[in-house]
Amino acid sequence: MGCRERAAKDDLLRIVVVGTQCVPDRRGTLPGRGAYTHPSLNCLDLAVRRRAFPRAFRVQGPLDSAELRRAVETVAVQASL
Ligand SMILES: [Zn+2]
Repeated sequence: MGCRERAAKDDLLRIVVVGTQCVPDRRGTLPGRGAYTHPSLNCLDLAVRRRAFPRAFRVQGPLDSAELRRAVETVAVQASL
């Protein structure tokens, strides 16, 4: 999703949908269909702009990605430390 660059699954953030919200699944344990993006705002924003999430989860949009964005921001900050 997002930038469509290839990456090892370990480097990607798994995302699932709970209700109408995209949530990060960092342990990979949440049930349901998963989508993957790089844990970067760049990649996430691309995915959001392309409406990749509703398509990936086969739901009629829109999906709330605010929490997901916060999570990616946290990951990005930690990675840069
Ligand atoms: Zn990406």
